[in-house]
Amino acid sequence: MAKTETPGENAQLKDIISHAKEYGFVYPSSEIYDGLQAVYDYGAYGVELKNNLKRLWWETMTRVQDNIVGIDAAIFMHPTTWKASGHVDSFNDPMIDNKDSKKRYRADVLVEEHAAKLEKEGQAEKGKSLTAALARLLEAEDLDGVRDLITNEGIKCPISGTSNWTDVRQFNLMFSTQVGSVAEDSSTIYLRPETAQGIFVNFLNVQKTARMKVPFGIAQIGKAFRNEIVARQFIFRMREFEQMEMQFFIRPGTEMDWYAYWAETRMKWHLALGTPSAKLKKHDHEKLAHYANAAMDIEFEFPFGFKEVEGIHSRTDFDLKSHQEFSRKKQQYFDPEINQNYIPYVIETSIGADRLFLLTLCNAYTEENSEDKSRTYLKFHPAIAPVKAAILPIVKKDGLPEKGKEIMELLKYDFNVIYEDAASIGKRYARQDLIGTPFCIAVDHQTLEDNTVTIRHRDTTEQERVAISELHGRIAEATSFRRIFEKL
Ligand code: ATP
Repeated sequence: MAKTETPGENAQLKDIISHAKEYGFVYPSSEIYDGLQAVYDYGAYGVELKNNLKRLWWETMTRVQDNIVGIDAAIFMHPTTWKASGHVDSFNDPMIDNKDSKKRYRADVLVEEHAAKLEKEGQAEKGKSLTAALARLLEAEDLDGVRDLITNEGIKCPISGTSNWTDVRQFNLMFSTQVGSVAEDSSTIYLRPETAQGIFVNFLNVQKTARMKVPFGIAQIGKAFRNEIVARQFIFRMREFEQMEMQFFIRPGTEMDWYAYWAETRMKWHLALGTPSAKLKKHDHEKLAHYANAAMDIEFEFPFGFKEVEGIHSRTDFDLKSHQEFSRKKQQYFDPEINQNYIPYVIETSIGADRLFLLTLCNAYTEENSEDKSRTYLKFHPAIAPVKAAILPIVKKDGLPEKGKEIMELLKYDFNVIYEDAASIGKRYARQDLIGTPFCIAVDHQTLEDNTVTIRHRDTTEQERVAISELHGRIAEATSFRRIFEKL
């Protein structure tokens, strides 16, 4: 569950949101009707960036690791799935309303925010004991106790400034709908709140058909839906989002070693992608979910503070065991090495594609203000940049456009490249900086004579002359995932 929520958006986040909208990355959903809260659409460059991130994750899991395969399960699942998983009974967040502002909050988040504030103000002990008290109360499902904690601590609504709170109530986050064409025949089904269950119910199918031996993993990328109580901070917390989850099936008793392995491996992945280590930290969960015996988050320092991007959970055999009970179908694996049948334990790594997208955008957004130049650019790792190169004839005549299009033909089947011949070259460079294109290829009169072009590098703005015949190799080298994989 969520750690902290800062009301409002800070200035840097606002700049990033408007940049994302203005330059074709993310728009509010159905904006012509004033949008739909916590639902967003990805634009021309956004979808490229998101697809690159998803592909990078997918290939990391299914290629770099040699014992993980993928699946693509449906969003709708048999409703008993969600009984077995515990979501029908306990996928809840505690909510509370302020009677004066009529604003709704997550009660746990209010307390955690307050504790974090105390810690920042030098009252670390008090903050910690407050967080511990909250964990105890949530564990005991003592909602009145949580309310008392909020009132006794004098926690106020940031909008009204009062402590006039309602009771705390549990709120189930699953969206439901009807399946079946006539009302009488229809039954309630859910939009999946996590992709993991699609993996669990297919555990034996995959194990048998892909001939996997424990330890092995199943990876999946897909949409998940949660009716979040408070949905703010842009694409950080959405009601419809995408998850990239991997369940790693292991022999019981080995879970702590594998948990440590995956925590380490996933952290390395974030570093290999270029996220500075100072902006990442691990956070161990105080309150464990009903299925876990150990859990931690990898947090990133967003403009609104350190927040979860990825969860690593030791899920025990909870899910498979529960599906075995509810379906009355054995979910066991025969381990030939030890000659035993058992229900495997599971380590899960779970990251939101949209949250990773936001992390990437925050990391990349750079405002440069020096005496001789001032510009904004997106410093994406070339392997995930939406557009790899822009081909720009310096003038729209003398055969330069034709030469530019020839270069386009050389590159377009392997890379996402664009061609642009309108406006001054300076303006076109600036535009490519704003969408994070690592290379601009300028075609000039010399190109016609000696088949060379100028490459202008996004981060340094330096230019160099290279032969057209070298372009493909250069771009391939800079944008290859291999460079990231080699760091893992
Ligand atoms: P949070 O604490 O932020 O509510 P969670 O602990 O409920 O998240 P998990 O159930 O562990 O999240 O989900 C795994 C990952 O899915 C999270 O690390 C996050 O990247 C992503 N995720 C979860 N909820 C959302 C959401 N509402 N919008 C976007 N991404 C989400």
